[in-house]
Amino acid sequence: RKGTAIITGASSGLGLATAKALSETGKWHVIMACRDFLKASRAAKAAGMDKDSFTIVHLNLASLDSVRQFVKNVRQLEMPIDVVVCNAAVYLPTAKEPSYTADGFEMSVGVNHLGHFLLARELLSDLQASDYPSKRLIIVGSITGNTNTLAGNVPPKANLGDLRGLAGGLNGVGSSVMIDGGEFDGAKAYKDSKVCNMLTMQEFHRRYHEETGVTFASLYPGCIATTGLFREHIPLFRLLFPPFQKYITKGYVSEEEAGKRLAQVVSDPSLTKSGVYWSWNKNSASFENQLSEEASDADKAKKLWELSEKLVGLA
Ligand code: NDP
Repeated sequence: RKGTAIITGASSGLGLATAKALSETGKWHVIMACRDFLKASRAAKAAGMDKDSFTIVHLNLASLDSVRQFVKNVRQLEMPIDVVVCNAAVYLPTAKEPSYTADGFEMSVGVNHLGHFLLARELLSDLQASDYPSKRLIIVGSITGNTNTLAGNVPPKANLGDLRGLAGGLNGVGSSVMIDGGEFDGAKAYKDSKVCNMLTMQEFHRRYHEETGVTFASLYPGCIATTGLFREHIPLFRLLFPPFQKYITKGYVSEEEAGKRLAQVVSDPSLTKSGVYWSWNKNSASFENQLSEEASDADKAKKLWELSEKLVGLA
């Protein structure tokens, strides 16, 4: 049978390129988990995806109710759930003031981490129930959350501190909107959320890999300088960033190539190892990359897990 992969944020950028790459193999049905149904259906059409190779299901990660509703809707499709890809993200580097999810969390961490945390926790039992030979839960990471790299050292750097802001609810009411308790900084909030994504993947691996057989993985697909992720950035940045990445840092990767990389993590029979953060070298060969000290801190991962459980109503 075909495999079924859920991809969040499949309406543009990396998510769409991955959905397209998987659908083209003829071996996958993609559940596109998107907040904008019309945009997703137009994007799938424009990408030339066969209409029988995907189903669009509404998901707004900025609302925990929407996440729960999505899980119900997906179960009603009565398709097995073989792979889940937590890919959607917002990046708000020029925001002067924080914005909030329906549940009152700062938006970047609320969408990129907490929404996905609830989604992944809810869908773990579905993954476990699937009879697919290699079941996987993938959480897209980033180099920007990784302070052991050059790109990860561009200020403001990711830093979760002692997680006091998260413990306080990340709502700006009696607590900070930043995980470490500091002043609002949109670029840092994004990087922090990516560290959370990588810590969460490893904590899943420690808690559930043996018990469930599910492979947990994260990845840095390369710098995809052309995606909508940079839509909130100033125009000059958007103009200069792609050539800068292409010719100066040489970290540039096309959306199509990045999509193939993520599709590999979804389906390649050789990438079944759990607990890995995948990266690719210049020749597009995958390798197991090292995470920064903070992004591989097991105590922090445990604390993050427990605080996140409380915030999304699982504990
Ligand atoms: P895009 O902005 O193109 O895609 C992000 C996707 O997330 C869109 O489909 C968007 O939906 C969706 N999304 C945003 N908010 C929500 C929400 N509240 N609920 C549901 N979906 C939502 O960016 P990329 O493709 O670049 O980013 C994809 C992933 O890749 C992210 O995890 C990012 O951190 C990671 N990444 C990107 C890099 C890059 O260089 N671009 C580098 C490293 C990692 P909509 O279409 O409706 O806006």
